Amino acid sequence: MEQADTVVIGAGFGGLSAALHLAEAGHKVVLCEALTYPGGCASTFSKDGYRFEAGATLFSGFGPGQWMARWIDRFDLDVRVEPVDPVFTFHGPAVMDVPSDRTAFADHLCALPNAPADKIRAWMAYQERIGDVLWSVLDEPELLPPWSLSALWRHALRGPRYLRLLPLVNRPMSHALERFGVADFEPLRAFLDAACQITVQVPASEAEATFAIGAVENFFRGAAHIHGGVGELGQAVCAAIERMGGSVRFANRVKALEKTADGWTVQTRSGAIQTRHVVANQLPQDLMRLADVSSARLDSMRSAVEGGWGAAMLYMVVRDEGLPAHAVHHELVEDAARPLPGGNHVLVSIAARDDRRAPPGFRTASASTHVHPNSDHPARTLSAVQDRMRVNISRKLPQLQVVEEYTASPRTFERFTRRTDGLVGGVPRRVGWHNYAGLWPRPVARGLWIVGDSAFPGQSVLSVAIGGYRVASAIGKRP
Ligand SMILES: Cc1cc2nc3c(=O)[nH]c(=O)nc-3n(C[C@H](O)[C@H](O)[C@H](O)COP(=O)(O)OP(=O)(O)OC[C@H]3O[C@@H](n4cnc5c(N)ncnc54)[C@H](O)[C@@H]3O)c2cc1C
Repeated sequence: MEQADTVVIGAGFGGLSAALHLAEAGHKVVLCEALTYPGGCASTFSKDGYRFEAGATLFSGFGPGQWMARWIDRFDLDVRVEPVDPVFTFHGPAVMDVPSDRTAFADHLCALPNAPADKIRAWMAYQERIGDVLWSVLDEPELLPPWSLSALWRHALRGPRYLRLLPLVNRPMSHALERFGVADFEPLRAFLDAACQITVQVPASEAEATFAIGAVENFFRGAAHIHGGVGELGQAVCAAIERMGGSVRFANRVKALEKTADGWTVQTRSGAIQTRHVVANQLPQDLMRLADVSSARLDSMRSAVEGGWGAAMLYMVVRDEGLPAHAVHHELVEDAARPLPGGNHVLVSIAARDDRRAPPGFRTASASTHVHPNSDHPARTLSAVQDRMRVNISRKLPQLQVVEEYTASPRTFERFTRRTDGLVGGVPRRVGWHNYAGLWPRPVARGLWIVGDSAFPGQSVLSVAIGGYRVASAIGKRP
């Protein structure tokens, strides 16, 4: 039987990152992916000659010195990163650009009618101070557990800065907004609710404040787009894994895991592999079925994910006429007073002009909204959601000329990412201490680890890549 040190199941960005760092640490790594391309929810797929982003379209942490930028340098990843500015245009109670420069954003907000300008500027300065503390560990995840001595020493020096976080722990973000007197300023509140919904999966009134502020800071910290689509980054990571001696196997679904005396036997479509460690880039419920394992920890991870969302998508081919050459993003909210999921809130991302993605004169675009997962969602309801997305898009972006459209639902995501019920939203960060439970990476059974957006720190390409790195660090070098 083939032997490996670690088998990674799934080439989403959590699995890609774990495989990359383990290969760097000298492990004989085999990465098995069911699809024929990498990236999962953050992939680029081909359809009728067009290339669409499957889900994720807008990325952070690519600024100078930030973690994704250092990743690209360290592993010599062959991609072209294009900063996006404005990061997106927000179409809510007011229409405003969200530039990467927070002072310019504060200026936009303060220029709106009845804006409490001093309070808005005080809030934006506070958000930056909190963001500085949180992003100091996202930019340098070596500071997260498992800690080295030098990381502990650096924490000791920084100690007082962490005290700033205490008033935010176990409190909703709306509590902090109230303290600054900006909770009722509708354009800011609608923007933050929408930003929280797409990042921490709940509005500001329900979101754990530290996670919510950290997530909203994404827009001001190295927001970028990958030329050719995020799939290019996934492919570049695969090439780096192979350069370091790892093996990446597409169209190679893992069918079962069997426990052995000193590890696991991994049954894959192309044969069995004996390994010491398995890193599963899967939802806890999917891993539980594959490995026939259960534990209180897996159960609690599973129920956290079950409280999450699925996605409804429109993949569109639009006319290039009148659009800027670079990628553009629009966040649309039809009615800020009503719940955002179900087509009320839509993120529309138009890819940069690129002949490899659409013929001259055309561009591809992906639009998404949150929906309840599969089981509660008959096709009729879903098509009503997609109609609402179309109406929202045609009202707010009348300039967009759609010539072709394909749709996707939680069922589509279930099929293509193998996530039960098409649960693609990760863990909603509702207020509570439980959010900090995964701070220390631990195996879910001996030699069995989970990476991806159901594990700490959570949803987004940057977060799952950091999660993969942390698990690789906890597993350690090849003995
Ligand atoms: C609509 C949408 C929009 C989003 N927008 C953004 C955004 O703009 N920016 C951002 O940063 N994030 C965004 N996200 C979130 C981000 O895409 C995800 O958090 C992240 O990509 C999830 O990565 P993951 O590691 O959990 O793996 P996944 O993406 O779930 O990938 C898992 C992989 O494992 C494979 N797999 C599963 N089971 C098996 C098996 N048995 N054998 C072999 N392979 C298997 C699957 O085929 C898949 O390729 C968005 C997500 C969605 C759904």
